[in-house]
Amino acid sequence: MEQRKKAVIYARVSSEEQKKEGFSIEAQLDLLHDYASKNHIDIVEEFTEAETAKQTGRHKFAEMLKFLKKSKDVNIILVEKTDRLYRNFRDYVDVDDSKFEIHLVKENEIITPDSPSHAKLVHGLKVLLAKNFIDNLREETQKGRLKKASNGLFIGQVPYGYKKLNKNTTVIDEEKAPFVRRAFELYAEYLSLEKVRWQLKDEGYIYQPSNPIVSKGQLGKMLKNINYTGALMFRDKIYMGQHEPIISDELFEKAQKSAKKDNKPLYRENHDFALAGMMTCAKCGCAITAEIKKGRYIYYHCTGGKGKCEQKKIYINEEQLLPQFDEAVKAVSLAQKHIEYIKQGLKESLKDKQEFTEEFRKKLQAEYKKIELRLERLLVFYCDGEISAEIYQEKSQRWNHDLEEINIKLEALRVASKKYYDEGVKIIETLKYAYSLYLQQPPAEKRKMLNYLLSNCTLEGRKVSYNYNLPFSYFVNFDSCNEKYPGCDSNA
Ligand SMILES: [Zn+2]
Repeated sequence: MEQRKKAVIYARVSSEEQKKEGFSIEAQLDLLHDYASKNHIDIVEEFTEAETAKQTGRHKFAEMLKFLKKSKDVNIILVEKTDRLYRNFRDYVDVDDSKFEIHLVKENEIITPDSPSHAKLVHGLKVLLAKNFIDNLREETQKGRLKKASNGLFIGQVPYGYKKLNKNTTVIDEEKAPFVRRAFELYAEYLSLEKVRWQLKDEGYIYQPSNPIVSKGQLGKMLKNINYTGALMFRDKIYMGQHEPIISDELFEKAQKSAKKDNKPLYRENHDFALAGMMTCAKCGCAITAEIKKGRYIYYHCTGGKGKCEQKKIYINEEQLLPQFDEAVKAVSLAQKHIEYIKQGLKESLKDKQEFTEEFRKKLQAEYKKIELRLERLLVFYCDGEISAEIYQEKSQRWNHDLEEINIKLEALRVASKKYYDEGVKIIETLKYAYSLYLQQPPAEKRKMLNYLLSNCTLEGRKVSYNYNLPFSYFVNFDSCNEKYPGCDSNA
């Protein structure tokens, strides 16, 4: 006899809904029990939550996650519809949907770890965007704290492009700064260090009158210097500098991405190989390198650095490899027929995100006001002679620090929001135009796109295997499979 499935139930009404007609826990429970009995599912536990305006935390929700984590044979959650389970953005991160099977009873959808469906596609996109957002928020907050940590002054010599007016004041050297700016711009376009040097000279940028062309060493050092963004690097930590930036954070990041190409072993700077540094050997794990034979044919082979490797002897013409990658990009473009679902996912996620940031911002602002009031009262106490100067100092310092911390979080929220929008646009653009763009691009751009879409590219014999990065794996999986064949792999 088939073993009956076991599930938990989660039902929730918000404080707003309780005022309206037709929303009740009972109605949800009736629906879910009915569904369970029709589908031969045993309910082992019920978790219900009626929120009040005062009480915002979801205790039963947390309890349920704990319960599921502990139990070995229950991994199904029955819930009326999506918004019952995911009240806010954060919850997507908490519910590890790679482990649970979620039945959205009213929406008539089952989200399982391995069955591709439109619901899973939309859902997966939302989970991914929420995760990215929370990660960015954490990262930006950390950055903001570090920046405040120092007084932001250069110690010793200032970098090329700046000059010191006095001990505490560093300003941009307007004669030298354009050189720095242009160098970053050129490097960010994936030119090699060597090419950047000569391009600068050709465009009339002079490094120093006595030394007009910058050396490769000096240039390399310059292009790694984060201080040009207005930050101040001190003992591996980044602080907020007091000097003006010469370049933007974005440009710096682009240049750093581009710098990776220079550190790839055996990468030939004078040749632009489309697949350089992209693949590893399936047999031994070493990098696959490229070289030119007979003056014009590009061949790839295993570097075999870890000893003998049978793959090392196999030289594969680029012409044989590129079509395999073309196919990979084409599959992503084909996924655009699901663009309506993807847009729906983005929109729903955006709504969740807005609610989350709104709530978070309000909380921070309320906290800020509270502390400000406290500071005002403290000053009154001090003026009335009710507290000592010492106590005044100590308390005001602590509360001012709290205010700064809130400002850091608000700023992080702003930056993370911007990144979030950019990510959404990038996903849509990629799906729409990836293939046609890809075909027209020079090798370096092709490689950039491949790196955005794929990871773990390996070469075995003459065959390339790869995984799609999220969220593209959802779309491509969905396209190449259908609901009848769950668990289909992208490498198949
Ligand atoms: Zn090998």
